[in-house]
Amino acid sequence: MPAATIRATTFQIRYRDALLTERQWDAELRRAVAAANGVFRAHGISFTLSQVAHLSEEASMALLTRSVDEESRAEGISRDAYFQRERRLDSYVQQSRTGARGPFRYGGFLVRAFPMSAAATSATAARPASQEALDILQLNRAAGEIATYWVPGFNSGYHGLTYMPEFNPGVSRTREGILISFGAARDILAHEIGHLLMRAGHCTFEGPDGATEGSAPATNLMHRDNESRTGTALTGGQVRRMLAEGRDYLRG
Ligand SMILES: [Zn+2]
Repeated sequence: MPAATIRATTFQIRYRDALLTERQWDAELRRAVAAANGVFRAHGISFTLSQVAHLSEEASMALLTRSVDEESRAEGISRDAYFQRERRLDSYVQQSRTGARGPFRYGGFLVRAFPMSAAATSATAARPASQEALDILQLNRAAGEIATYWVPGFNSGYHGLTYMPEFNPGVSRTREGILISFGAARDILAHEIGHLLMRAGHCTFEGPDGATEGSAPATNLMHRDNESRTGTALTGGQVRRMLAEGRDYLRG
């Protein structure tokens, strides 16, 4: 059975004045890997969590601060202006999702998210990775292992993002990886692994030419709208595509 190894890095950033403990992160990671195995083992692919690195709050904040410095300088705006804009984005998302009003203390601006096209391999608008993402994607890597990074939140309401060269200029094959927010539905890791192994978006690969076809249906793991639980089905075309395109990560 082809197997892949997952390497995880967590970020200790105060979110609504609270830090997530290593135990909370460990439980989250175990839950997500178990869910991925629940989906993929039925199709002959299994995953093992090889290594977890919990970044300290100091190291996490140093990285975030450096990224904000670099991004605000590149945009020619002050750090304050940058923070305020990202915080507005974040509170907007929070309000639209929860209906809540009032101040939102922490801007979940660690990672500025991009919308991934439903249409997979072609006609996907290139979304340059943010400096935050590029900085994160350098940490705790090993060749042939799936690099995952667990953050307290995104500024966008996204739960998971896969950064790879096909979608994100600035990200190289040796610096690609998956970012996931704490508390995401437990299938989100499985969904993002699907992107990484297929090297594609939300298509079924069940078209008459064996290539892409439309968006995956709601019952499918790769359905585009994964706000809560994802589907768990995979098409034969998707599995074939993963085995072929995901060979850098699959052993045995
Ligand atoms: Zn997706």
